[in-house]
Amino acid sequence: MSASQYLMAIDQGTSSSRVVVFDQNAAVVASAQQEFPQEFPQPGWVEHDPEVIWNSVLEVTRKSLAAADVKNYAGLGITNQRETTLIWDRKSGECVHHAIVWQDRRTADYCQKLKDKGAEESVTQKTGLRLDPYFSATKIAWILENVANARQRAENGQLAFGTIDCFLLWRLTGGRVHATDASNASRTLLFNIHTQEWDRELLELFDVPESLLPEVKDCADDFGVTDQSVLGAQIPICGIAGDQQAALIGQAGFQTGATKSTYGTGCFVIANTGQDAVRSKHNLLTTVAYRLDGKTTFGIEGSIFVAGSAIQWLRDQLRIIESAPDTQAIAEATGIVEHVHVVPAFAGLGAPYWDPKARGAILGLSRDSGINEIVTATLQAVAYQTKDLVNAMSDDGMHPSVIRVDGGMVANDWFLQFLADMVNVTVERPVNVESTVLGAAFLAGLGSGVFASTDAIADLWASDRVFEPQMPDDQRNALYRGWQDAVARVRSSVP
Ligand code: ADP
Repeated sequence: MSASQYLMAIDQGTSSSRVVVFDQNAAVVASAQQEFPQEFPQPGWVEHDPEVIWNSVLEVTRKSLAAADVKNYAGLGITNQRETTLIWDRKSGECVHHAIVWQDRRTADYCQKLKDKGAEESVTQKTGLRLDPYFSATKIAWILENVANARQRAENGQLAFGTIDCFLLWRLTGGRVHATDASNASRTLLFNIHTQEWDRELLELFDVPESLLPEVKDCADDFGVTDQSVLGAQIPICGIAGDQQAALIGQAGFQTGATKSTYGTGCFVIANTGQDAVRSKHNLLTTVAYRLDGKTTFGIEGSIFVAGSAIQWLRDQLRIIESAPDTQAIAEATGIVEHVHVVPAFAGLGAPYWDPKARGAILGLSRDSGINEIVTATLQAVAYQTKDLVNAMSDDGMHPSVIRVDGGMVANDWFLQFLADMVNVTVERPVNVESTVLGAAFLAGLGSGVFASTDAIADLWASDRVFEPQMPDDQRNALYRGWQDAVARVRSSVP
């Protein structure tokens, strides 16, 4: 390659939109970020105004274009909050309803009705997911049922459905391209991960007209170019993946068995299972990790609802720390806490328990337990929950030899050492812990030919620090038994 080439990556998240410009060696040239509000129209409902999302993306994109002040953009990549659902008019581009966000539970009863009819087994077999409001299909059905004339307009082919990647692509290309990638499609409950096609039986089950659906492309593919009038430049869009899949790519997790764990607000673990769509026996999800050159690589995924947000809870509700990084010095001074367990089940327990009615607790307090023990036990809880997930993955045949970690919480060295000790696996932190946006840039680089192969990407990935397990087995087992006992006490029903 002669002249330098640049890659732009958009990361459209649940609470903020950000854009990063990278050079061809994956070094950051410029970035911009903007937070935006969510809307909560009723208990359990979570929405975004699509115009607020679009404007925030436009603004951070224009800001980073100006800050980077370079010309040779080889490609643009998009990564996004997954499952969040939008429907818009193909002519005007206007959305018929606010975005229904992944966290929204308004379709819980609808899901239960379908489960009562015995639909879940076939849905899980085809999609790798659970019949849960979290995913897009029942959100689409809700909009079609509740917005005046929406179903009729959908049946006439006037409307388009998309997850956030697809909506941004539509807008960025001036309404020319209606497409998504296989990783985002695999989160809708409408996409058969084995045939890699929208599934007629699922469309019928959820009563979704096929005319609404976007074309499904590879993650590195030709998605069109940005319209001159939108960004003042025509940049080829050549990479798309959902946020957790993008993080796996940003961690260069291309080998079967490669595992990444992202510690932001919540925690998401994905293990690359290669060409096998591994069906979990422990309530983990099977998902498309990525699809490149028409070849699908699968992943197994588990999530912890509360990770970094437990640290925010210490800061904002308990007010026992001033800022999140304080937790490291406190834990270093306190040392591993043996008997106090914080179970941060504020919104129920995710995988492998799936107990929505469980609630949090602090257990094992004695007269000498204080603020420091509670802070340290909270960090430990995030590691115990990761062990729960990794144990489930191991039982499903996917035991990692290394876990690559990213997200805001991994700045905490004490946490990562305890994590390595508890999970009993090497933990590796990259130089760039913003794996999600980096993954979108990697895909754009693959799609535009800046990177010749996934090997070239793996060569660019750089390790910052490795944490090796050091804890004696006896201590690990005793601590983990204490955690399991604490979890058993907060569950809504005895399993
Ligand atoms: P998101 O992308 O979900 O907004 P980030 O990846 O930016 O999250 O991570 C932010 C989270 O990390 C916050 O919840 C914060 O409490 C936590 N966090 C940040 N720094 C530390 C630290 N040094 N120790 C522990 N937690 C931290």
